Amino acid sequence: MSEAERTTRRIRIGGVEVGGGAPIVVQSMCATRTMDIDATIAQARQLAAAGAGIVRIALDNEKEVAALREIRAATPGVTLSVDLQENYKIADKVAPHVDKIRYNPGHLHHIEKSRTIPQKVKWLVEVARDHDLAIRIGVNCGSVAPAFLEKYPGDQLTAIVESAAWHCELMEEYGFDRFVVSLKDSDPAKVVEANRRFHQRRPDVPLHLGVTEAGLPPDGIIKTRVAFERLLAQGIGDTIRVSLTLPNERKHEEVLVGHKIVEDVHAGRFISAPDFGAGLNIISCPSCSRVENEKFVELAQQVKELTAYAAKYKITIAVMGCRVNGPGETDDADLGLWCGPTTVNLKRKAQKLGNFRYDDVLPRLKSEVDQLIAARSPAN
Ligand code: SF4
Repeated sequence: MSEAERTTRRIRIGGVEVGGGAPIVVQSMCATRTMDIDATIAQARQLAAAGAGIVRIALDNEKEVAALREIRAATPGVTLSVDLQENYKIADKVAPHVDKIRYNPGHLHHIEKSRTIPQKVKWLVEVARDHDLAIRIGVNCGSVAPAFLEKYPGDQLTAIVESAAWHCELMEEYGFDRFVVSLKDSDPAKVVEANRRFHQRRPDVPLHLGVTEAGLPPDGIIKTRVAFERLLAQGIGDTIRVSLTLPNERKHEEVLVGHKIVEDVHAGRFISAPDFGAGLNIISCPSCSRVENEKFVELAQQVKELTAYAAKYKITIAVMGCRVNGPGETDDADLGLWCGPTTVNLKRKAQKLGNFRYDDVLPRLKSEVDQLIAARSPAN
């Protein structure tokens, strides 16, 4: 496979150029609590030192803005992006301290219902322009804007592509073109298809690639490669983020893996297994400032070890770090776990099975896996 040329426009994000002929930017995200200023500064530096062109930080509320100010002051030269999560209204408070904001079109309807989506986007554009910021329109299969799900019933891929395209048009209507788009999912095949379709529709718009909740290495790396290799080889993708479940001291490995994938694609080395994931599929989030228990990474590792015996069965288990996104992000899984401060929530498909202490959840999970296996034959 040879690598196709990229057709996107080039934009500036802080000190970094993304798109067009610019080198592919590998980025990453801090998993530390943003209020733990020292730990977040250390992690931003750790990621930048490993080669992250952009470092993202999650912010939920105004209280964290003061922490962000200090983090910014201590990380000169690091291009910072902030994830507005579900609170787009803090954009103007955050803006003086970052180079890019990311908003999720699927989260704009929740708050300030008296304002229309175009009004909210227009305001975000004004904030970005006033503070010399770039924007990422970050669409996620787990949180698609309801209006688009209703417009394209049963066709989630079209819904996310159209949602992203509409937000691009809104930005352009307001005279702003310093934006990138991402279309993410935990399923590499969906990531490939969504990005391919969006790129056909808008070949000029720079794309940020990501497979969400790819999980623990090495499986999470393979899953990511499955998507990135195909897209990058087609000239699709201008900046990438590898989302792996890793303890904080190893978080920079996401960046090293990202650079290795880019290097391999440039050299024509494609090592992914196209039928990877045909059996047991364990999804786990990369954790972020919202993670509710430090045992999360260990829990994901234990789930992987405990369920290894089910490798041949087509079962999806999702392990998430918090109660905010845990319930939604586990929706498509056969079994879902998400952390609370002292307990782990467990569900089978949509049915909540209860909260379990960290020590008790694994035996219960095993009994659920056993029941699923009893009901299935291998790889079906
Ligand atoms: S599931 Fe929660 S902890 Fe994990 S990355 Fe998403 S927001 Fe962060």
